[in-house]
This record gives sequence, structure tokens and C-alpha cells, in this order.
Amino acid sequence: MTESIIEEARAILPEIVELRRALHRNPEVGLELPGTRTLVLEALAGLPLEIIEHHTTGGVVAILRGDAEGPTVLLRGDMDGLPLREDTGLDFASVTGDTMHACGHDLHTAMLVGAARLLSERRAELSGTVMFMFQPGEEGFHGARYMLAEGLLDSAGSRPELAVAIHVTTILDSGVIAGRSGPMMASADQLDIVVSGAGGHASRPDAANDPVAAAAEIIMSVQSAVTRNVSVFDPAVCTFTVVEAGHAHNVIPEQVRLQGTIRALSPETRAHMHELVARVADGVAVAHGMAAKTTFHHGYPVTINDSNVAAELMLAAHSLVGAERVVNLPDPSMGAEDFSYVLQEVPGAMFFLGACPPDLTPETSPFNHSNLVRFDEEAMATGMAFHVMAALGRLG
Ligand SMILES: [Zn+2]
Ligand SMILES: [Zn+2]
Repeated sequence: MTESIIEEARAILPEIVELRRALHRNPEVGLELPGTRTLVLEALAGLPLEIIEHHTTGGVVAILRGDAEGPTVLLRGDMDGLPLREDTGLDFASVTGDTMHACGHDLHTAMLVGAARLLSERRAELSGTVMFMFQPGEEGFHGARYMLAEGLLDSAGSRPELAVAIHVTTILDSGVIAGRSGPMMASADQLDIVVSGAGGHASRPDAANDPVAAAAEIIMSVQSAVTRNVSVFDPAVCTFTVVEAGHAHNVIPEQVRLQGTIRALSPETRAHMHELVARVADGVAVAHGMAAKTTFHHGYPVTINDSNVAAELMLAAHSLVGAERVVNLPDPSMGAEDFSYVLQEVPGAMFFLGACPPDLTPETSPFNHSNLVRFDEEAMATGMAFHVMAALGRLG
């Protein structure tokens, strides 16, 4: 059966490549993706699907009901591009000048359309329902959270018992499937600290209260505090990336602003890091007779793969691409994903799909988000087949 699924995926690949290139030419950023949505709706037209067009975002949900009753499975593809200029020179490169499908979400969208076509053909074999989640705004806009808030999980009548997403990457050879049990990607929160002292003449620090020295101490103390308080087996990262202070060599400024990112691999450590960083910043500032105000902008939660689902889908991956093309990742990625919101509600897993172009290697290929990144479109056949196998594993 696995072989016929692959053959069916290969048979429709040329049309899926065409759709992917159409999406690639016109990348849209954020939560409203009108052109992308139109292309998706056109590509799904004629299939035996119930289509729900979301109104809080440009999200689209397509429901496929099998001939027999059974559980619901959710398959997700994100659809948004990034705000950067494409410099790949591809003949289907972005025509917008300032947006690019640099994270491969055009492949995800096209693969999900392909999976909807393949599973529609197998409708008679399905005992249950497949929910196709076409999601906008993954790149920092919390698109998945908005779709959940609009009732995504109830849109088929029964809540999904399995959720699967695939992300293409150039750090793996084309067609390789990689996953793991437990944390797959980190949480990512933005950190903002304002240290307030008293400004003055740079020659008389005793007559001022210099927040620059205190801010420097906060940066270093946070690093020490993280290594002394956070388990090495459940690690976290705090990186300061912005340090803004005065404007003149002879003026002590009144304030220093620090910004950075906090990454963690469990909800517990994520919460611990927020408490720890705020406490250290406050404590150091108070020791110097000043104040530090710490605020966090919550980004995406930790993406946690359910261990049973991960094991089930690793087996499916083995039968699909062979053991030598399946990677059980030793470590999570410290990047973040808003599929995490779906996985907070539904047991499921996210997998990486290698899509390094054949003329490059994972070592030489530009990464996702690069203005030069290219993906191997052949990998989409594997991605479509993997979606189909995930659904058939529960509904077949
Ligand atoms: Zn991305
Ligand atoms: Zn992405």
C-alpha cells in the first residue's frame, strides 16, 4: 500500500509543483493572505470537501468525510511568506520585490492540497474525517492561535484525535524525514528590560546613578543565573540582542534599554526563566539603588511531540522512505513554531522533511529564511505521501 501511495503522490507532483510555483511568485505576509487563499480555494475546487473560510484570519479549513464513521485527523500546512527580498534568480522567484517564501510554506501549502486530492480519491477507504488546516501567519503572527480561537477543532463535528504538521528544511537531504518524541522546537519569548538610574556629567558618576554599569551587570548576572538555576537536562537560553543607552561620550544617561530572547524546551522552564530573569534584573538594579522594569512579550509555546504519535509516525516514515532516510533527532530545534498551540490541544507531532536541492548539500545550502534559499520540489511527493499515511494510519 505504501508503494501505491508514493506512486499516486508522484503522479500528481507536476501539478503540485505548478501550484507551489504560483504561490512562490506571490508570497504574502501575515494573517490575511488573499491571493494565496484564492489559489488554495481554486486548487481544492471540485474535491468532495466542506470548505470553511475563516473570517478572523485568511485561514481555510477543508473537511473530508470518509464513507464510514470514525475519528478525526488534522493535517496542517502554513501558507505565509516572509518580509525579505528574494535573490535566488529562480524563474518563478517572487515578483513582489519585498516578500519571499523563504521558509518553504509554499511547499507546505501545495503538499497539503496534494494530500487533500490523494485522500479524496481514497474516500471510500476512510473510516473517519480528515481536517486540512491551511494556516496563515505562522511567522510571528500566531495564526494557529487565531484559527483555534475561531473554532478550528470543532469545525468537523468531532475534535481531532491526531494532529500532524510537516516542515521542510535544507539542513536535511531531500526526502529525509526527521522527528523525535517530546520537545521538538523551543518556546520563544521577547524580553525587554529598562534600567532607570539618574543621568549626569560623565566626570561625576558619584553625583549621578549610572544605569550603564548596572545594565552590564544584569547582562552577565543573567547568564550566571541561568547556568546555576536551570537544569542542563531541561535547558534554556537567554540572549541579549539590543543594548541602548546614551548618545554622548560625556553624558551619563538616565536609562538603559535591554532587549533579547528567551528560549526553553518545557513550559516549566519557560515559566522559571521569566521569574528568574525578572528577579535578577530587579535584584541587581536595587543593589545599585535603581530600578529595572522587566516585561515579556509571549511568543510561541514549546512544540511538544506526543510520544505515542511520534513513534507511530516514525514507523510510517520507515515504511515510506526506508530506515536509512529517517532521522530520530537527538536534539530539538531552538527555533519556534505556532503549531505548538495545536499540540497543546491535540496529541500530535511535527516532522521535518529534508528538501535540500540536489546541486547543494545540507552543509552548503542556504538555510530557511535566507534570501538565497531554494528547496527541492521532489521532496513534496514524500511530504504528500507522509500526510496521507498519517491519515490512513488512523482512518484506513
Ligand atoms: Zn520560518
Ligand atoms: Zn516555517
